[in-house]
Amino acid sequence: MGRLSVDLLVLGAGVAGVYAALAAEARGAKVLLLSKDPLPSGSTPWAQGGIAFPLDEADLEAHLQDTLRAGRGLVEERVARAILAEAPRHLARLRAFGLPFHPEPTREGGHSRPRVRHLGGDQSGLLLLRGLLARLQSPILQGTMAASLLLAQGRVAGVLALSPEGPLEVRAGAVLLATGGLGRLFPLTTNPEGATGDGMALALRAGAALRDLEFVQFHPTALPNGALVSEACRGEGAILLNARGERFMERYDPLLELAPRDVVARAVHREREATGGVFLDLRPVPNLETRFPTVVAQARALGFDPLKEPIPVAPAAHYAMGGVKTDLFGYTGIPGLYAAGEVASTGFHGANRLASNSLLEGLVMGERAALAALEDLAFPQGAEPLPSLAADPEALLALKAWMERAAGVLRSGKRLEEALRFAEGLPLREVAPERAIRPSLEAAHQVLLARLLLRMALLREESRGAHFREDFPQEAEEAYHLEARGEGIRRVPLGIE
Ligand SMILES: Cc1cc2nc3c(=O)[nH]c(=O)nc-3n(C[C@H](O)[C@H](O)[C@H](O)COP(=O)(O)OP(=O)(O)OC[C@H]3O[C@@H](n4cnc5c(N)ncnc54)[C@H](O)[C@@H]3O)c2cc1C
Repeated sequence: MGRLSVDLLVLGAGVAGVYAALAAEARGAKVLLLSKDPLPSGSTPWAQGGIAFPLDEADLEAHLQDTLRAGRGLVEERVARAILAEAPRHLARLRAFGLPFHPEPTREGGHSRPRVRHLGGDQSGLLLLRGLLARLQSPILQGTMAASLLLAQGRVAGVLALSPEGPLEVRAGAVLLATGGLGRLFPLTTNPEGATGDGMALALRAGAALRDLEFVQFHPTALPNGALVSEACRGEGAILLNARGERFMERYDPLLELAPRDVVARAVHREREATGGVFLDLRPVPNLETRFPTVVAQARALGFDPLKEPIPVAPAAHYAMGGVKTDLFGYTGIPGLYAAGEVASTGFHGANRLASNSLLEGLVMGERAALAALEDLAFPQGAEPLPSLAADPEALLALKAWMERAAGVLRSGKRLEEALRFAEGLPLREVAPERAIRPSLEAAHQVLLARLLLRMALLREESRGAHFREDFPQEAEEAYHLEARGEGIRRVPLGIE
């Protein structure tokens, strides 16, 4: 077995991982990144809309209020305020890196004014990641999947990974999870194949708490294969039509197509059910082909020409608001283990992420977590890998079909119960991590997370009767987070760490 030792091991090479690594190497730390997939990997390079930065000091409060409103009463204001206050420093740094931001910010759903900075038309994430990778000195092992965390004396001390050359043990003074989300749990998703919730499952197995898993954001406008049609398209004039050719958003929200995502997703879902389809008319968008080249190419690849006709769209699982619970320093509560980016739950997004706040969180929290981890390096002797969980990938396919009906935009307690019963019946077994194989590990992560997610969704529905129904209140009546540790799920009052 191969063996390596570093100061900081970063799992994941999306925005959070790479930005964290840049911060750590700038302080002289020996850093290694693992990326399960070839670069550019993760959701980051797929991000189209951009990064939300407060426009100036005066806009900070408005950006905060928009974040709180979108988050439905479950945003931790203290966390959001801290992240937004740091945002301008990161924008200045990215500019100093030479990233070619468009001079004018754009507007996306839920934002009260245009403040989303984009790059290369709709290639924001790709150009951001390329710009960060170009500056990175630390090595990235591509095609290398963390299979299990190593534990020593109550501390996370590295990982056991599956590399193309075989098992690899990496010992580290601290491990930073930056493994992204779990969208692949659902059959229709905008997320890349690797978004199987690995970091969340690894952290849970090591004793960390997972929080707010039941909050999965559905993007209202995905093509039939899950390819995203950016919200910015609606920001620049695209309109939604049902199968009868009627513009319908005025019946759902005064902000029309720019209402918060959950509102638009539910409206699209209802109209699809009622009329048999929903279409996005992109023809009102000025300079469509140069402004949204990716969208145009993806639609054409499926045989639709957005310059000539409205294109079919449906809601798809898009972003995990929940994840590994951390404080404002990315600390998970397990010595040696940090998390940042979509894998983490800081409380910034509450029940519903404001558009383009996630890349921002990846930057701010990536740096914060890296710096905190460097303050806390330790190299205990005698680390052992935790056994990995494996599952039958075939069973996962059936589970995914359930996830669509149960926890997608179709929301009813009965369906959730049925899905939970089904998920609980799927067997998971322990295997030596070095003998695990990727599809089986990923399947196990997804089954584990599906069980927790469905249970949390049911608990929330029982106790408040609202989240999974149309009448989810503007402000949560009773604000609390649901947190899972091992098998147990408990309520945690908002803002109490
Ligand atoms: C289509 C799409 C469009 C989006 N548009 C926007 C937008 O415009 N603005 C915005 O703010 N947000 C957007 N988002 C959300 C945003 O892109 C993501 O939340 C963000 O990029 C996540 O970054 P990350 O660094 O946390 O993880 P990711 O970028 O997802 O990276 C995860 C990394 O972890 C690696 N990994 C995973 N598991 C393992 C493992 N077991 N071992 C080793 N490596 C592993 C992956 O290979 C990858 O390198 C979009 C998301 C999607 C899917």
